[in-house]
Amino acid sequence: MFCININRKAGDDVKTRHRVRLITGMLTLAVLLPVLFSIWLAHHQAEKRFLNELNSYTDRTLRRTIQVEEQAKIALWEINRFRGEACGPEHLKTMRRLTFSFRHVQEVMFIRNRTLLCSSLENREEDRLWPRPDRINAEGYAVWFTENNDLNFYHYMVALGIGSHVVVMDPMSFIDVIPFGSWPIDVALIGLNQNRVIASSARFDERVWQRARQSNLSTFEHQGNVYLIRRQPDSGFALVVWASRLPLEKASRDQLLLWLPLGVVISALAVVLTLRLLRRIQSPRYRLLDAINASELRVFYQPIVNLSNGRVVGAEALVRWPQPDGSMLTPDIFIPLAEQTGLITRITRQVVESVFRDLGDYLHVHPDMHISINLAPEDLASDHLLDMLTPLLARWEVEPHQIALEITERSFADPKVTSPVIERLRAAGHAVYIDDFGTGYSSLSYLQDLPIDILKIDKSFVDALEYKQVTPHIIEMAKSLKLKMVAEGVETESQADWLRQHGVQFGQGWLYSKALPAGEYIAWFTQQNTTLLT
Ligand code: C2E
Ligand code: CA
Ligand code: CA
Repeated sequence: MFCININRKAGDDVKTRHRVRLITGMLTLAVLLPVLFSIWLAHHQAEKRFLNELNSYTDRTLRRTIQVEEQAKIALWEINRFRGEACGPEHLKTMRRLTFSFRHVQEVMFIRNRTLLCSSLENREEDRLWPRPDRINAEGYAVWFTENNDLNFYHYMVALGIGSHVVVMDPMSFIDVIPFGSWPIDVALIGLNQNRVIASSARFDERVWQRARQSNLSTFEHQGNVYLIRRQPDSGFALVVWASRLPLEKASRDQLLLWLPLGVVISALAVVLTLRLLRRIQSPRYRLLDAINASELRVFYQPIVNLSNGRVVGAEALVRWPQPDGSMLTPDIFIPLAEQTGLITRITRQVVESVFRDLGDYLHVHPDMHISINLAPEDLASDHLLDMLTPLLARWEVEPHQIALEITERSFADPKVTSPVIERLRAAGHAVYIDDFGTGYSSLSYLQDLPIDILKIDKSFVDALEYKQVTPHIIEMAKSLKLKMVAEGVETESQADWLRQHGVQFGQGWLYSKALPAGEYIAWFTQQNTTLLT
């Protein structure tokens, strides 16, 4: 009902649509961006974990190679301590014991002048020439990467020797490390001298090693795999560790499939919620609340004059709501809305503050002038008004009788609550007017019990006075109750004459002035005073 009149111009609608689009867009982004970001983050973290796992696997494998090498050295040191008969039963037994107790040592051999004389596997009849070492490392150990072994079958072995002894190890021992991660990782051991694969946990693409040698890179991608290269020049080998990217990509695709529809659903929900929120924000109540919060409401003042001499006695404060197009919304429209939605006491508070701000000085200088303020039933539910008025009166040095309060019959619907509050307002010195008198449903007889001072005759009883039978009765009754009267909506001289003749003391209406902004009201008042004095 109220929204129709809350003048919404075409420009406003365009602005609203623009705002809706902007907010919707921002909201969609606000939802989608975190979703996309979380997907990116998840991917980024999975990638980081992937590389970390590759790195830590490489470290573990390196430790393993060192461990195997150390074991070989200890075995060599022990066998070189043997002082008995070379290739005698005791020597052979010691060599066998060593292969038994050192896990990584497969065979121990006794070599003199490059001739293999005996080994832990057998005591040979015929001597065999043993090849020259592939290299001598920094500590003086001879190193072989060889397919030579004592059993005459092809098996690539790593051998380490010093003194007259050589220990032989299975190259797989160097890389026999299980990956802990959630995806498979493979490793290859490359001999740097011969540039060949010594051992590998899976088929190794030799082109990778060629590429690594050429580029000197320590990590690169090749055919969907990530390769990590660790060169150990001192030990004469390099480790190549690799894993497929496929599981990683599948995991992030799965995550995207899970999150994206969820993100879209959340976005859609957010859009619906925003639209509903916007509709609420656009609702008259929210617009009014905005106006109250921004202190946009203005108060106009309509003079009240003494009908017998035309002198101004004060004014009624009437609230206005300025609209974006410059027009003023009349209180008929938004006061009922404010009463229904619990905003009225805030409006009253702002009106009272405005009255003092606008006319505090004026009232102080003119103690015979008053301002009457309209109240709603809810304003009389507690003493908040009195609590507010008392300090304002003191601050502006205004007498309580200069602030009158207009209440309607509706305020007496719950007299138990409102009557004591009204009594206290009167006791404090405020005059209480009954507004819109006669338009309510209450019977006239209750008037005599009401704690009021002045009766305001509603405009409908002033209009077309000649046809109204009831107006003289209202006037008579007021007189008999010794209540003074203000006639509202006086538009013509003849109405004023009639009212004057019938003993109505005060009048208010367009005949004198419409409601004016404070400055104009003071100017009007000053001009009236001078006219009357001259
Ligand atoms: P009301 O208290 O009966 O106020 C008189 C209304 O009649 C005012 O309308 C005034 O502008 C209008 N009026 C005065 N003289 C004439 C005239 O000669 N001819 C015509 N046609 N109209 C005249 P307004 O300002 O639109 O106020 C409407 C109503 O809104 C008021 O009726 C009052 O009930 C309420 N109201 C206004 N200000 C406040 C306020 O601050 N608080 C509360 N609670 N209600 C307010
Ligand atoms: Ca009024
Ligand atoms: Ca009225």
